[in-house]
Amino acid sequence: MRYKYCKEGHLMDPSWKVCPVCIAPLAGWLVMLREDGSAEKYYTLHEGKSFIGCAVDCEIRILKAGLARQQAYLSISGGECSLVDLGNGEPIKVNNINSVKAMLIDGDIIKMGEKLYKIKLL
Ligand SMILES: [Zn+2]
Repeated sequence: MRYKYCKEGHLMDPSWKVCPVCIAPLAGWLVMLREDGSAEKYYTLHEGKSFIGCAVDCEIRILKAGLARQQAYLSISGGECSLVDLGNGEPIKVNNINSVKAMLIDGDIIKMGEKLYKIKLL
């Protein structure tokens, strides 16, 4: 079985003409931060459930940042965003507090693996 990827890097079945993640409304961005707090990389967030990790089937695939294959998932619907730690790696911190499940608001700072991320919601 061969797969292809959309322009944002989501795994797609070769028979799919459009990416099911990308056609969901844009909900915001997850911004990887450098140690000085500046933005290193942006990951787009779409409504629905998005897995975060280094595995190929994660909607938010982040490599070389100390993440487990499936570290967590984000669930966004109706303007609410929640983050659930799947317990596969170092505990996730939201605003410096260990969080197994957290509701996120715009500007929250998330520590996952070796990096800090800022959530930017629309
Ligand atoms: Zn996509």
